Amino acid sequence: MATVSITDLKKTFGKTVALDGITVDITDNEFFVILGPSGAGKTTTLKSIAGLVDVDAGSVSIGGTDVTLVEPYHRNVAMAFESYALYPQKTVSENLASPLKSGRTGKYSEQQRTERIEQVTTTLGINHLLQRFPRELSNGQRQRVALGRVLVRPADVYLLDEPLSHLDAKLRAAMRAELKQLGAMSNTTTIYVTHDYQEALALGDRIAVMNRGKLVQIGTPHDIWRRPADTFVARSLGQPEINVLDGVVDDGRIRLADGSLDVAIPAGAAVDRGDRVRVGLRPCDLHVTGGDGSLHGKVLLAERLGRNIELTVDVGGAQLIALTSGRHGVGEGDNVTMKIADSDVHVFAAGEGDTSRLAGSSADRDSLEAAQ
Ligand code: ATP
Repeated sequence: MATVSITDLKKTFGKTVALDGITVDITDNEFFVILGPSGAGKTTTLKSIAGLVDVDAGSVSIGGTDVTLVEPYHRNVAMAFESYALYPQKTVSENLASPLKSGRTGKYSEQQRTERIEQVTTTLGINHLLQRFPRELSNGQRQRVALGRVLVRPADVYLLDEPLSHLDAKLRAAMRAELKQLGAMSNTTTIYVTHDYQEALALGDRIAVMNRGKLVQIGTPHDIWRRPADTFVARSLGQPEINVLDGVVDDGRIRLADGSLDVAIPAGAAVDRGDRVRVGLRPCDLHVTGGDGSLHGKVLLAERLGRNIELTVDVGGAQLIALTSGRHGVGEGDNVTMKIADSDVHVFAAGEGDTSRLAGSSADRDSLEAAQ
């Protein structure tokens, strides 16, 4: 049973607060993703679980045992760093075999070792590289071998710190599915750090969004995408970023921009007439229509992004970003009409900085696929 429980972890480096009271229970076999910007405290969280930093306060339990004061070697966790450490004078094959020969993993038979290496190298697409030396590999291949070195070793918990960061987009996407499968097969709890929201949504059984040493929200990909706890989480997921506009609650609607623009008050919003709020509208939820819709504006910029076109639209003096397939053939200078489903309107408290969710986006429609 490799549950991981972290309770009120705190860590400062000089004046920098890296962890500011982190509490989370990760279940056995879970693929748990920590998502956050640079400096949020993601790596420090992993290192605290591995025992590689001494925390100032709080505790870490693995499998129900308090390991806060236990040496890293005795925690039975395997950690992969973003930078890849390989033995330069050993082949890929020897690099992969070495973690299985030492210490507590030395109990594996030759056949078990071969099977495990075969499984991991196939998953990572590196089985054709076994006889090469690290200097004969590309950065992406080296990173996969380094990840392989971690995954061949049976452990209670895998701690993976941006392990796909050096791979190109196509390979990353392919590896995500494989990694998830490998995690499931090996019956191991995996904690995976990334700053890539698509990776988080694709891989995580649950995602914890981290900012400035705190876990802002923990939930399934669906929860986090559909019901972000605050504007920070909402902005952390989605490319282009969610539009956040100031608004005022009017008679049954929320008026935005110069007042000529309005959206529905989503179900469950505890707001009264006259209240100031902030409204989040995701670019992928704004649909350019052939004519019907309540959002009218003028296209200032149209930029092709892969299969979509990103439109910057002036709507009542506010600028909204919308994504369109280009089906309606709109270009710069054109007038457009857009609509958004009532259930895709997110309402947050008014104010400066990041503010909390008030309501919106019930789970009746799933736009998660559009995000991935
Ligand atoms: P990144 O995505 O850039 O790797 P992160 O979310 O993993 O960032 P951490 O590496 O955990 O962030 O760092 C959290 C904060 O603690 C940062 O402000 C960082 O500069 C600081 N920090 C981390 N390790 C040390 C250290 N050994 N000495 C001093 N400051 C540190």
